[in-house]
Amino acid sequence: MRRIDRRRQERLRRRLVSFGISFALGALVATLLTDRLQRRASHSPEPLPIATTGEAESSGGRPPRAPAVEAAAPSMTEAIADLAGRNLLIPVDGVTANRLMDTFNDSRALARRHDAIDIMAPRGTEVRAADDGTIAKLFTSKAGGLTIYQFDPTQTFSYYYAHLDRYASGLAEHQSVRRGQLLGYVGSTGNASENAPHLHFAIARLGTDRAWWKGDPINPYPLLAK
Ligand SMILES: [Zn+2]
Repeated sequence: MRRIDRRRQERLRRRLVSFGISFALGALVATLLTDRLQRRASHSPEPLPIATTGEAESSGGRPPRAPAVEAAAPSMTEAIADLAGRNLLIPVDGVTANRLMDTFNDSRALARRHDAIDIMAPRGTEVRAADDGTIAKLFTSKAGGLTIYQFDPTQTFSYYYAHLDRYASGLAEHQSVRRGQLLGYVGSTGNASENAPHLHFAIARLGTDRAWWKGDPINPYPLLAK
């Protein structure tokens, strides 16, 4: 009789223990679920889920996402806005903004776009630096004649002066120049008409290689005719 009782008691005790354990587990799961649901509910109306995503990514052991947008070169619109803020000088003495003509989109030899403006002036008129910077290259070409490539101080842009009659005395490559500094004189060297001397002036945004002969053309007209 006693033995039976003891067995019953033992069985009852085991049941109680297992019931207790499952109850505890159930309660724990329920608590976790409720907690999660509550958190989700409280997070959902937040307008900035990006921060949460970023945290999750960096805590996952992956390297933080590269700041691709910051590293990328500024857009052409930004570059032009930057140039507009520099107050570029009309690079030919005595020429006022109202005398400039927008010939940037004109077509030239070999169906090429002009990508520059021609500033008409008598032969020998002073040509001055449109901006601070350095003389990147003094170059003579068949089309441009006697030319100057100047870089701006940040080496983002190049300014190109062509058909010069001659350079200012002492002008040399790698020399730094100031806005308004004399660079040379208007002429008609290269393919310019003898009886129409002018300064062919171009602006380009340089590539990452800073090659003086390359770049994306920017219309100087709106930057000078302000
Ligand atoms: Zn031209």
